[in-house]
Amino acid sequence: MADDCLFCRIIRREIPAAIVAEDAHCIAFRDINAQAPVHILVVPREHISSLDAATDAAAVGRLALFAAELARTEGIAASGYRTVFNTNADAGQTVFHLHLHLLGGRALRWPPG
Ligand code: 5GP
Ligand code: ZN
Repeated sequence: MADDCLFCRIIRREIPAAIVAEDAHCIAFRDINAQAPVHILVVPREHISSLDAATDAAAVGRLALFAAELARTEGIAASGYRTVFNTNADAGQTVFHLHLHLLGGRALRWPPG
């Protein structure tokens, strides 16, 4: 846990968030600036700064399967959804605690901006 990390603070319940699901390893909450009708961030409880710093395949893989399960419970699995890791500056990463964006509920353009 990093003392001053926004997502660590959400995990510690120091900052409120609309938490939709959690287990022993992951927590998922709605993005405060949603870019789609469903926009959820799936986050490991462990502080990992970005995909570039990740070394634990299971930790990364759990995020993807957690998002897939959430897509089913949110009712967007059949219509489709996108999962995105933004990594470092060119991708626009702003919070340096690994998170997987789950976006859906509308047709998503490709390529992304
Ligand atoms: P990034 O740009 O790093 O891939 O994504 C960070 C995401 O965190 C952004 O989509 C942003 O809207 C979201 N975010 C930033 N601050 C907060 C917050 O305090 N609460 C929640 N729920 N989401 C946040
Ligand atoms: Zn953190």
